[in-house]
Amino acid sequence: MAFTLQERQMLGLQGLLPPKIETQDIQALRFHKNLAKMSDPLEKGLFISISDRGHIRSIVDNWPETDVKAVVVTDGERILGLGDLGVYGMGIPVGKLCLYTACAGIRPDKCLPVCIDVGTDNLTLLKDPFYMGLYQKRDRSQLYDDLIDEFMEAITDRYGHNTLIQFEDFGNHNAFRFLRKYREKYCTFNDDIQGTAAVALAGMLAAQKVVGKAITEHKVLFLGAGEAALGIANLIVMAMMESGISSEEAYKKIWMFDKYGLLVQGREQKVDANQEPFMHQPPDQVPKTFVDAVHVLQPSAIIGVAGAGRLFSHDVIKAMGSINERPIIFALSNPTVKAECTAEEAYTLTEGRCLFASGSPFEHVVLKDGRSFKPGQGNNAYIFPGVALAVVLSSVRHISDKVFLEAAKALTDQLTNEELAQGRLYPPLSNIKEVSICIAVKVMEFMYANNMAFHYPEPADKHQYIRSKVWSYEYESFMPDVYDWPLATAKPS
Ligand code: NAP
Ligand code: MN
Repeated sequence: MAFTLQERQMLGLQGLLPPKIETQDIQALRFHKNLAKMSDPLEKGLFISISDRGHIRSIVDNWPETDVKAVVVTDGERILGLGDLGVYGMGIPVGKLCLYTACAGIRPDKCLPVCIDVGTDNLTLLKDPFYMGLYQKRDRSQLYDDLIDEFMEAITDRYGHNTLIQFEDFGNHNAFRFLRKYREKYCTFNDDIQGTAAVALAGMLAAQKVVGKAITEHKVLFLGAGEAALGIANLIVMAMMESGISSEEAYKKIWMFDKYGLLVQGREQKVDANQEPFMHQPPDQVPKTFVDAVHVLQPSAIIGVAGAGRLFSHDVIKAMGSINERPIIFALSNPTVKAECTAEEAYTLTEGRCLFASGSPFEHVVLKDGRSFKPGQGNNAYIFPGVALAVVLSSVRHISDKVFLEAAKALTDQLTNEELAQGRLYPPLSNIKEVSICIAVKVMEFMYANNMAFHYPEPADKHQYIRSKVWSYEYESFMPDVYDWPLATAKPS
């Protein structure tokens, strides 16, 4: 409805649109109003089920777009901190790709959301007559692996080997397995492991700037030892090694506490291979609770990624405040109800001294003395859109962990001195598009410098190149170039 009268006449639209000529802002507001009325999210994407085995390529062919550059795929097993949502997990790939467009200007027609339905272990859904997926328990046999293999082949067969495939919200075991299996073979990354890692590391690097304490001097205690925790921990190790310490020394500075307690050597409950580097000699008295662990280990940072609710108790926060001048407290579990503590608790109980970030948003906090704090949102939405933008524009075959280290540094670099002085760990989300573009530029420079990018010729000015490719949803005129001629010269005198 933003077409001008002239455009309507020229494009043959007159009469096909309501007479009002309306700005995009008003149209966006109307859309929001209608959206708010809907009680059920209407979700579109490509659904592939295990019963379709052997026919995935023809399903991919049904997708109408011919030039897809990026796919986000889930199997719905671990949606946010909400657990197994089966085929309703589709909201996540759709939402993530909306962020590709909103945060990084990746064209929506280049994006394909996919939900792979191999059943669900969510009994409520299996009993619900309105459920939209397969009524079966999750297939955990070889057939599941074969299906994912077939899916990877079908996507790259149709759209090319450089198609970015982002894995999202898979269960822990499968997330690590598929990352290991596909990372050298396809252009892929796991956002929960690698994207989260970068955003959390960026928060640590910003904290380092705020308090002037080197990353190598930190001792980090995780609550949770899953995809997010291990991803973050490994990237912190990488950053510490870049600052000059050995991997052994770096691992020693990181501890993890899961459902069964502290990860220590010789504990009863089994750990998987990913966790082994973070298993340490047990302290003299092995702490039983998380607050005990804080007292015994005296960490400078605690990072909550358990998805199990408010487990940073008041005692935990106060202990962090008494051990550290500037404690780092990251409550990264999503959604908001699953955050390990609220922003208010963190700032109040540390008299405003903590450096706080949460995965989901919290309102700003005003202390009794009037000081006000804007909590940082340590959400991977700061990272994956910018990384994806660089990847789809540079023809990349594989994405290494180093890319996420670069992305983390690029994010921290965008904090102004003023923001750092206020203790802010992330640039304002209102600026996310510029932030994503700057991350994309840094990542693209890194990928060309390290022979990971194969789009030729290499753009000389990457900033300008990326900007020229970013999709703009600003209203542009549809009028052709209209101008006057000196009429006297266009006819015989
Ligand atoms: P995950 O792989 O399932 O890991 C969860 C970990 O937490 C496991 O080690 C689990 O132990 C442990 N845990 C569960 N309950 C616990 C409890 N009561 N006490 C201590 N540890 C407990 O899941 P994930 O992918 O790491 O995700 C975890 C959370 O992080 C989710 O809420 C997710 O939304 C959030 N997250 C946030 C971001 C962000 O950008 N901010 C990104 C990704 C994920 P067991 O293995 O023994 O069960
Ligand atoms: Mn996720």
